[in-house]
Amino acid sequence: MTSYAEFHQRSITERDSFWAEQARLIDWQTQPQQICDYSNPPFARWFVGGTTNLCHNAVDRHLASRADQAALIAISTETNTERSYSFAELHAEVQRMAASLQALGVKKGDRVLIYMPMIAEAAFAMLACVRIGALHSVVFGGFASGSLASRIEDAQPVAVVSADAGSRGGKVVPYKPLLDEAIALSSHKPQAVLMVNRGLAPMDWVEGRDQDWASLREQHLNAQVPCEWLESTDPSYTLYTSGTTGKPKGVQRDTGGYTVALAASMKHIFDAEAGQTFFATSDIGWVVGHSYIIYGPLIAGMATIMYEGLPTRPDAGIWWSIVEKYKVTHMFSAPTAVRVLKKQDPAYLAKYNVSSLKALWLAGEPLDEPTAQWISSSLNVPIIDNYWQTETGWPILTLANGVEPQSTRFGSPGKAVYGYNVKLIDEATGEELTTPNQKGVVAIEGPLPPGCMQTVWRDDDRFVNTYWKSIPGRLIYSTFDWGIRDADGYHFILGRTDDVINVAGHRLGTREIEECIASHPNIAEVAVVGVADNLKGQVALAFAVPRDASSLGDDAARKALETEVMQVVDHKLGAVARPSRVYLVGLLPKTRSGKLLRRALQAVAEKRDPGDLTTMEDPAVLQQVRDLVGS
Ligand code: ATP
Ligand code: MG
Repeated sequence: MTSYAEFHQRSITERDSFWAEQARLIDWQTQPQQICDYSNPPFARWFVGGTTNLCHNAVDRHLASRADQAALIAISTETNTERSYSFAELHAEVQRMAASLQALGVKKGDRVLIYMPMIAEAAFAMLACVRIGALHSVVFGGFASGSLASRIEDAQPVAVVSADAGSRGGKVVPYKPLLDEAIALSSHKPQAVLMVNRGLAPMDWVEGRDQDWASLREQHLNAQVPCEWLESTDPSYTLYTSGTTGKPKGVQRDTGGYTVALAASMKHIFDAEAGQTFFATSDIGWVVGHSYIIYGPLIAGMATIMYEGLPTRPDAGIWWSIVEKYKVTHMFSAPTAVRVLKKQDPAYLAKYNVSSLKALWLAGEPLDEPTAQWISSSLNVPIIDNYWQTETGWPILTLANGVEPQSTRFGSPGKAVYGYNVKLIDEATGEELTTPNQKGVVAIEGPLPPGCMQTVWRDDDRFVNTYWKSIPGRLIYSTFDWGIRDADGYHFILGRTDDVINVAGHRLGTREIEECIASHPNIAEVAVVGVADNLKGQVALAFAVPRDASSLGDDAARKALETEVMQVVDHKLGAVARPSRVYLVGLLPKTRSGKLLRRALQAVAEKRDPGDLTTMEDPAVLQQVRDLVGS
C-alpha cells in the first residue's frame, strides 16, 4: 500500500502508465493506442485510438452481473411519486428514447438540448444521446427564455427534449411556454421537440415539430439500439458554467477520458462499490448532476437517486428519510443546501437512521467551518469538502480515499487530487509559489487530466485565451480562484481572483472575511465584496443574513449586531480587513445553482449596472440591497 502522496506523485511523473491502469476500469471496444497526446498544447487528447461508449459503460456493461439491481431511483416530493428502474429496465427505457430520437432525425454528432425537471426521462434522454453518439446540452430547467435562447443559438440542436412543467415548493413551473418563446427568439430552429407530458400544465402544440414522448415510446417499446462506438476523443456533451462571474462558457467534454476519469474517481475518491447507493442533491443542469447523479454512480454499478423537490419540504427531514429508506451510502451536496438546513430545527436530523452513510461530500462553494462543524456533529459522518469546476468535470482538490483517516481540516478542501498538477502562481510575475501559506492563483499545469474540458464549444481561441493565457509568461490553466497551501499540502480557497480586495495595499480574499463573520453565532450567511473607495483603493462591504431576525426588532439591536460583527473581524483578522459597513439583509443574491452572486452585490454597491442576471435565482433580492446602499 503506497501513501497517497506517492500515488499522486506517480500520476504526474508516470502519467501514461498511471492512466493506462485507470483505463482498465472501463470497457473499450478497441483498446487505446496512445494514452495521452499532448503534442499540441494546451489541447490534450486522451486514450487516442480507443473506442468506447459512455452509455455502454453506465448501463449495458452491468446487465450481465446486476440486471435486476436498482440503477435509477427517481423521487419527487413535488408530485409525490417514486419510480425505481433496474439496470435492465433502464436499458429498455434508454433504447426507447434512443430509437425515438433517431426517428426524429438525430444522428451521431448532432446536438440535443435537454431542458427538463429532475425526472427519470431526463436521465433516459442523456443516456440515449451518448448511446447514439449525439451530444447533449442540458440546460437547467426553469431558466428563463432568454438564457435558453442563447444556449439554443450556441448548441444548434437538431432536437430538444423537454417536459410540460417542473414544480418547485408545490408550485407548478410551466416549461413549454418558456421553450416556445426561446425557440422563437433564437435564429436556430430545432427540427423536433420531444415533450414529456407529466399532466402538470397545458401545452400549446406546434404541429409537425412537437412530438409526444408517451406515443413515441409506445411505438418503440421493444427497440434495440446498439451503442455507437465512438473515438475516445469524440465529444460526449457540452455544458455551460454557472455564470457566476459573467457570461457562461460552453464546456466540451470528450468520451473516453471522461468515462475513465469518472470510473477512477468512484474508486479512488468515493471508495464506491457496485450495489451501493449514491444520492447527489444537485440538478442535472449542473456538472455535479452530470458526473455524480448520472454517469459516475452508474459507471460504478451503483443505484443513483434523482430527487425533485426542496430540502425542506414536506419538512427538513426529507433528505435523511431518503437516506434511511434507500440505505444511501454516499451523499453529495452543496454548502448552500446545508446552510438552508442549518436554519431549521435540528431535531429533523435525529429522527432518521442514517447509519448507512459513509460520508457526505460537499462542493460548489467554500465550506465555512461553522457549517462544516454543524453538519458533521449532526450527522456523525465524515464531511468531505471537494473543490472543482464545470470545466474539470471531477474534483481537483479533496481528501481522496486513502488519505490518512481523520485528516479533515475544516475550511480546506484538502490536497491535490491524483492527475492534477496543481500550482499556486503569483499573478503579477507568473512565478510559482512554493513557500507554504503564500497566496496565489490556483493553476493546473497541462495536460489537464482525463475528463476535463477539451475546449470551449466551437471556440478553441476562447479556450486558449481565457483559461491558458491569463498568467504572464507561461501556458498554464488558471482556475481563477485564489488560494494558499499549508506546509502539509492542504489548500484553502480564498475566493475568486475577481473577488480579491485590495485595501490600502493589502490583498484580502473575500472568503477570509466571510469565514470570520460566519463564526458569529447569529450570522447564518454572509457575502463580502470590495467596492471602489477614493482613499483606500477598495473597501470591504459585508451583507449578512442574521440567523434570528426576530431579536433584531429595533435599530439599536441591528446596530449592536453590526458592531459585534466588525469586532469579530478586528479580533480574528485585524482592523485592515474590517468591512466599512455591515448590512443586515433577509436574503443574498444567488445563482440558480446556489452560488453567491458577489458581482451583482458589488455592482449595486458601486452603483453600476449589474450586468447579465439571467442566472440569478430571485432578482427581487437585489432590491433590498439597492434600498440599503441607496443605489
Ligand atoms: P462561471 O465560471 O460561469 O463564472 P462558476 O465558476 O460558479 O460560474 P462552476 O463551474 O459551477 O461555475 O463553479 C466552479 C467554481 O465554484 C470554482 O471555480 C470555485 O470558485 C467554486 N468552488 C467550487 N467548489 C468549491 C469548494 N469546495 N470550495 C471553494 N470554492 C469552490
Ligand atoms: Mg468558473
